[in-house]
Amino acid sequence: MKKIVVIGGGPAGLLSAIEASKYDVDVLVLESKKEIGITEHCAGLLSIEGLEKIGLNKLPSEIIQNKEIIGAKIFSANGTELVVEKNSNHALVVDRSKFNRYLASIAHDNGIEIRTNSRVKNIHRKSENIELVLGKQAKESRITTKVSILAEGRFPKLNSQVGLSNPDEIIFASQFIIDGIENLDKRYVELYQISKYAPGFFGWIIPIDNSVAKVGIGTRYRPAKKYLRNFINSELLKERFYSAKILREMSGAIPLGSYINRSYTDNILVVGDAAGQTKPTTGGGVILGGIAARIAGEIAAKAIIEENYKKSFLKQYEKRWKKEFARNLFIMKLVRQYLDSLDDKDIDNLLKIFNKPKYKQIFTSKGDVDNQQAIVWKLLTKLELWPFFMKTGLKFIFKKNKW
Ligand SMILES: Cc1cc2nc3c(=O)[nH]c(=O)nc-3n(C[C@H](O)[C@H](O)[C@H](O)COP(=O)(O)OP(=O)(O)OC[C@H]3O[C@@H](n4cnc5c(N)ncnc54)[C@H](O)[C@@H]3O)c2cc1C
Repeated sequence: MKKIVVIGGGPAGLLSAIEASKYDVDVLVLESKKEIGITEHCAGLLSIEGLEKIGLNKLPSEIIQNKEIIGAKIFSANGTELVVEKNSNHALVVDRSKFNRYLASIAHDNGIEIRTNSRVKNIHRKSENIELVLGKQAKESRITTKVSILAEGRFPKLNSQVGLSNPDEIIFASQFIIDGIENLDKRYVELYQISKYAPGFFGWIIPIDNSVAKVGIGTRYRPAKKYLRNFINSELLKERFYSAKILREMSGAIPLGSYINRSYTDNILVVGDAAGQTKPTTGGGVILGGIAARIAGEIAAKAIIEENYKKSFLKQYEKRWKKEFARNLFIMKLVRQYLDSLDDKDIDNLLKIFNKPKYKQIFTSKGDVDNQQAIVWKLLTKLELWPFFMKTGLKFIFKKNKW
């Protein structure tokens, strides 16, 4: 019997497996697809600080598509631009398929077995253990384990089978890799907070170089691809995309509202998108899910060492990841809800205000891709902003409950 079985070979699953293996326990990863990293439904924008937190200080150069990102250009519907930047590069754009395969290679080097073509269809408790029932293509039809880490990603099927909930809010996303974009500066990510093109979220252009970028939108409505085409053909962008060519298309979804009520039960821990561990402001989940995954791997290994698989022991996983970033998620969720409640004119006014040097200075000094708490608190101390916040606050309170 394998001691720990991780279900899902995405970043959260692989990082939890890698962490657990450091405690010299048997770990098996089951992945439903025929290869690790087979679909790339991600922009791959990762902060350097965040990568350090998940133990990936130095990524191999072949994974990195752009290491020169120093800031972001934020645009409103009528073209007002706010540039937020740091003095040095602080984020990387990675090839997500290669990134996943790199994590799998570390797992392999740590002695972890990864079985592809192994979809777990059902999960149930069998006396003190957990029994997994696998799909037809898998090597074995049933596997028994002491601890299982559920890392199925955005649409988990197994959480409910063990009495846990699923992330309740989903953003639909579509992204094209496009070549031949005019006026692209590989040092800046472009963000478009425009309700017409990306209702309930935003559009992005994440440069790979000065001509090729990952261009995408997230929205609460479907089909996201239709919104993305409208975005690219919009008055704001169409000239820059006149001779552009779509190299690849991908679609996906991002759990955004909030993390699940409880991320553990007897013999079980849930990590990554399956637990709703994503940033409500941007949808990024690799770093936060990765931080939680490392904690899950450690606690799962300790459960094996101490032979204690009870939820009373495993709950320390949730306590620890919540201590790391639950407060940050709460603030970021309010920011996302506030931004969604603003109309395009409000966003335009907000960007105009933030263009003043004193606010740009706040963004430069307090800006953090993974944690926007510090900026929020600082901005709330600025009395000059309160008339705007009060004017728009009513809309926020009114719309908030709809989310
Ligand atoms: C368009 C888009 C852009 C994004 N951009 C960014 C970004 O720039 N930065 C960022 O940090 N995040 C980004 N994200 C979010 C990021 O992709 C996710 O947060 C991240 O991949 C979550 O990792 P995970 O391991 O939890 O899930 P996943 O990456 O979804 O991995 C889950 C794995 O489990 C496997 N699986 C599922 N069910 C089973 C089963 N029953 N049995 C066996 N295997 C199973 C799946 O095949 C999959 O390989 C983006 C998402 C989208 C959609």
